Amino acid sequence: MSLQVLWFKRDLRLADHAALGAAAAAGPVLPLFIVEPDYWQLPDTSFRQWEFWRGCVADLADAIRAQGGTLCIAQGDAVAVLEALRQHHGPFTLWSHEETGNGWTYARDRRVKRWARAQGITWHERRQFGVLRGPGLNRDIWAGQWEALMREPVLIQPHVHWAATQSMPLPTYAELGLHPDGIQFLQTPGREAGITLLTSFLHDRGQQYTREMSSPVTAEQACSRLSPYLTYGALSMREVFQAAERRLMALHTSSDKSRAGWAQSMRSFIARLHWHCHFIQKLESEPEIEHQPFARMYVGMRPQPADPDKLAAWAEGRTGYPFIDAAMRYLTAHGWINFRMRAMLMSFAAYDLWLPWQEAGLILARKFVDFEPGIHWSQCQMQSGETGINTVRVYSPVKQGHDQDPKGNFIRQWVPELAQVKGALVHEPWRLDRSAAPHYPPPIVDHKTATAFAKDQIFTRRKQAEARVEADAVFRRHGSRAGPRARRGMAARSASPSGRSGQLSLDL
Ligand SMILES: Cc1cc2nc3c(=O)[nH]c(=O)nc-3n(C[C@H](O)[C@H](O)[C@H](O)COP(=O)(O)OP(=O)(O)OC[C@H]3O[C@@H](n4cnc5c(N)ncnc54)[C@H](O)[C@@H]3O)c2cc1C
Repeated sequence: MSLQVLWFKRDLRLADHAALGAAAAAGPVLPLFIVEPDYWQLPDTSFRQWEFWRGCVADLADAIRAQGGTLCIAQGDAVAVLEALRQHHGPFTLWSHEETGNGWTYARDRRVKRWARAQGITWHERRQFGVLRGPGLNRDIWAGQWEALMREPVLIQPHVHWAATQSMPLPTYAELGLHPDGIQFLQTPGREAGITLLTSFLHDRGQQYTREMSSPVTAEQACSRLSPYLTYGALSMREVFQAAERRLMALHTSSDKSRAGWAQSMRSFIARLHWHCHFIQKLESEPEIEHQPFARMYVGMRPQPADPDKLAAWAEGRTGYPFIDAAMRYLTAHGWINFRMRAMLMSFAAYDLWLPWQEAGLILARKFVDFEPGIHWSQCQMQSGETGINTVRVYSPVKQGHDQDPKGNFIRQWVPELAQVKGALVHEPWRLDRSAAPHYPPPIVDHKTATAFAKDQIFTRRKQAEARVEADAVFRRHGSRAGPRARRGMAARSASPSGRSGQLSLDL
C-alpha cells in the first residue's frame, strides 16, 4: 500500500481526526509536523503562542510514540519539506484538515496545492470545524449544517500502521527569533490538560458561567478556558459540543436543585461553540477581512499608521483609565482574558483612541494564546463599528469598572500604582489629589469628548445612501440567520444610530 503523509497543522490530536482516519484506512501513515520559521516572524504571532503550540506538538509526539510511531518534525518552508519527503520516499498521498488561518497560511496552502498538482500528488483536506469551503456556501442553511456535523459520531482513534521516519527536536523560541513577552501564567498545553478543563467546567466550574463570565474577577474560573485547545486542535469542536450536550441531557433528568442554573450555562456555552465556527466562516468566505473592513465605506476612516504614543500607552496598560489598564496588564500576564474585557479593550482603542483595528488588533492577537484569525478579525471590526450591520457599542471604562469590579480589587491587584487608593475613587483616580497616586498617569483622553467624535464620524458614514446597500450585502454574505436583523428584516434600521441589538451584538 502506498505511503500516506498526514500533515498535522492546527489539529494536534489523534482522536476525532477525520484526515487521520481516512489516511490510516488507505495505507501506512507518516505523521508530519512542519515548523515554519517564516510564520513565526509574522506580526500576529508571538512567543506565547509558540510555547503553547510547541507543548501541544510535544504531547502529540508522545501519543504517537506510545503507539510505536514517530512524529516527523521538520523545519522549513512547507513546499520544500514536502518535496524533500517526496524525493526520499517517492510519491505519496497527502492528508490534512482544512485550515482557515491568516493570509500567510492561505498563500502557503495555495503554493502547496500548486506543488502537489505539478508533482501528481493528491492532497485530501477534511473539514475540521463547522466551516464550509467552496462555492456551495449558503448562509440560510449554514446553522443546520453545523448542527448536523456536530452530531455525527465522534471518530474513534484509528488503528494506524505508522510508517518509519526520522525527526528533529522542536526548535526553542530563541531559534525561531522569538522573545519572552511577559506571559506569566501560560495554560498547560496538550490534550490531557484540555480534557481536564472540559470535565471540570462541565461538572464543577461552569454552574455560574452565564452570571460570572463578564467579570474578569470571576471569569477565570467560570469560563471554560478551552479556547487555546480548540485553536490548536488538542480537542475537537465536536468532542466538546457532544460532551456539553450529554451534560445538558443528563440535567433534564436530574433532581439537583442547581439544575436550572446549570442548564442555562450549558445552553450559553453551546451557543458560543456555534459562534466559534460562525465567525471563522466569515474569514473563510472573505479572506480580505483580515485587513479590510466588512463595510468598505469605512476604509481610511481611522488614520493609519496609528498614533504610536496612544498605541503604546494602550498596549502597555498606561492609559490613565484604571480598569482598561488592569485588563490589559492581566491579559499580558495570562495570555487570555474574558470576552467582555476583550471587547472593552478593543472599544477603547477604536473609539476613545481612534486607532485602526488593524494595528490594535495585531497587538491583541500577539497577546492572545488562543489567537484565531477568523474570530479575532471579525470581533475587532465589530468592536470598532466597521461591519456596517452591528450596533455601535462603546464601552465606558468607568461604568465597566463599577459593574465588573465593584470593590476595585482587580484594579488594585493589576495596577499597583493605585493599590493604596481606598473606595470607589480607584475607578476615577483623576478626581483625587495627584499625591494619592503620583505614579499613575492622568487619562490619555477625555472619554466623553473622544467617543462623541468617533460616533459622529461613524454615523455620518452610516447615514449615506450607499450605507444601506452595503449593509445588506454584508448581511447576505455573513449574517447569522438567527440574529435580530434576520428577524426584523434584512435592511431594517441598518443605518440608524439608535438601532439596538442584544448586549453582545453577535448578529453579524
Ligand atoms: C476583540 C476580540 C477578539 C477575540 N479574539 C479571539 C481569538 O483570537 N480567539 C478566540 O478563540 N476567541 C476570541 N474572541 C472571543 C472570546 O472572547 C473568546 O473565545 C473567549 O473569551 C475564550 O475563553 P473561553 O474558552 O473560556 O470561552 P467560553 O466562554 O468558555 O466559550 C467556549 C468557546 O466558545 C467560543 N467562543 C466564546 N465566545 C466567543 C465569541 N464571542 N465569538 C466566537 N467564539 C466564541 C470559543 O471557542 C471558546 O473557547 C475574541 C473576542 C473579542 C471581543
